[in-house]
Amino acid sequence: MNDARSALVLFSGGQDSTTCLAWALEQFAHVETVAFDYRQRHLIELDQRLVVLSEVRRRFPQWASRLGEDHFIDMGVLGQISDTSLTRNVAFTMEKDGLPNSFVPGRNLLFFTFAAAIAWRRGIRNLIGGMCETDFSGYPDCRDNTIKALQVTLNLGMDRSFVLHTPLMWLDKSETWALAETLGGPALIETILDHTHTCYEAERGPRHPWGNGCGTCPACALRKRGFEMWRKAGKA
Ligand code: ZN
Repeated sequence: MNDARSALVLFSGGQDSTTCLAWALEQFAHVETVAFDYRQRHLIELDQRLVVLSEVRRRFPQWASRLGEDHFIDMGVLGQISDTSLTRNVAFTMEKDGLPNSFVPGRNLLFFTFAAAIAWRRGIRNLIGGMCETDFSGYPDCRDNTIKALQVTLNLGMDRSFVLHTPLMWLDKSETWALAETLGGPALIETILDHTHTCYEAERGPRHPWGNGCGTCPACALRKRGFEMWRKAGKA
């Protein structure tokens, strides 16, 4: 059955999922990771996540022994059926229904469902994702109630007792930086700044104080603003 000491992290290689990975490595004895290729425009995140994983192993010996297998799932079919600015080369805008056109319908529902299927096979109980309701773009599948309902659905549908954790749910971006500092100190902050990928435009670009990226897409803007707020709060 599911081992309560084990966890599987949805790990895309961005700031949020790297913070979630550190959170899981502090809590659980055995932590595995999973990533999805859904033909996102910023496929570069899938290269960066391997760099982050190797940096975590190198810089955090206390976590390295807990870090287990990495899983990679080809979900190209999601890219095939999604007409969004994350999966097509179109500009980021808001739609009439108030959602940004970067919303990929079903994405997080599928991610957790596939993660649960892996966890089922691996005997893992805890699933961890970086969904956040505080600073989010209005994606309905990042809401706390969506994730809670999904936990019930997965447990009914797979006859297991998975626990879905979303440690960033009620944090804003500046609090996410603060959490990373608490978990892994300056070494984790440096790892996140130097190696995680957030930019929707898939640009690594020059290294800004808040990390790499185009600096103007919605994901970069959020990361930059959060970083500046966190820095300011630290100096106050
Ligand atoms: Zn960007």
